[in-house]
Amino acid sequence: MVKIFQIILFICIISTGISEAGEGIFKKSKSLMGTEMEITVASADEKIADKAIDEAFAEIKRIEEMMSTYIPESQLSRINSSAGKKAVKVDKELIRLIKRAIEYADMTDGGFNIAVGPLIKLWKVAEGGNIPDNDEIRRAKEIINYKDIAVDEKKGAVFLRKKGMAIDLGGIAKGYASDRAEAVLKKNGIASGIVAVAGDINAFGKKADGGKWRIGIQHPRKKDAFIGIIDLEDEAVSTSGDYERFFIKDGKRYHHIIDPNTGEPAAKCQSVTVVAKEATATDGLSTGIFVMGPEKGMKLIERLPDVEGIIIDAKGNIAVSSGLKNRIKDR
Ligand code: AMP
Ligand code: MG
Repeated sequence: MVKIFQIILFICIISTGISEAGEGIFKKSKSLMGTEMEITVASADEKIADKAIDEAFAEIKRIEEMMSTYIPESQLSRINSSAGKKAVKVDKELIRLIKRAIEYADMTDGGFNIAVGPLIKLWKVAEGGNIPDNDEIRRAKEIINYKDIAVDEKKGAVFLRKKGMAIDLGGIAKGYASDRAEAVLKKNGIASGIVAVAGDINAFGKKADGGKWRIGIQHPRKKDAFIGIIDLEDEAVSTSGDYERFFIKDGKRYHHIIDPNTGEPAAKCQSVTVVAKEATATDGLSTGIFVMGPEKGMKLIERLPDVEGIIIDAKGNIAVSSGLKNRIKDR
């Protein structure tokens, strides 16, 4: 018996919804990129707020159409279906994100690895779950080296050197989409708001009452409980957790973050939260650090400038980076 679980918005935005004289808080949710997302803005004009939010969602949809592996005509799917055969010309935007993803792979010792596609297909966590046998895992592991992704910036083309290879941007595209949506909101005159693409969140400006936006970090094992609350201003936060998308078979939990070293769900953490300036960074890093584990992961967080984080290890012990310790509140 396979049981599927999916907790969608696992970071809760704590906003009072209070509107000051002349400024209101407007909020809309949508289902895109296989998940729920929510945009909240503070604005004096409901029409401006509405238009800005709609355009931000349209931007996220545009990114989904370019980068989804569930859409056969997406540019990313075309790269994947030509693996081992030929280079595929794609937009500069996709090339730039692939290059950034490779930087996070290098930073996290390969914990973050967008070439994990063949393993993602085997485990099928998003589709309900499947436990592959050792042979299948061994064969997939032969075609997940991210160094076999050849990016030719001049020609604007990407070539996957081995047949069967597949890029999966599921660990970074939501963060990127969150950053792009924030940029679209700002272009539309919005000075303050929150973009939450599932757990990849950008908070910018201040609330209508002058206070900072508050984000509650979900407890990985206690439903509807927070491990703490952080105030954010012009920052992004992402959480990668084993409770987000998972299935349980014969009493064992299998989840969606795969350790490229073992070919199995990463086992060293329950959740990793990263705070930094951009959600593209927090998204890539939180997934990669989840694979690295608590010791190496915290060393990396402390080494990187302007990056903070919370790591909950496999036993439930909570470690907070030095720059975040006195920013975490109970409520
Ligand atoms: P996140 O929720 O940001 O931690 O991303 C999880 C998603 O990233 C999964 O659903 C997969 O699509 C993809 N993924 C899984 N394992 C890895 C990995 N080791 N490196 C990069 N992406 C991964
Ligand atoms: Mg991620």
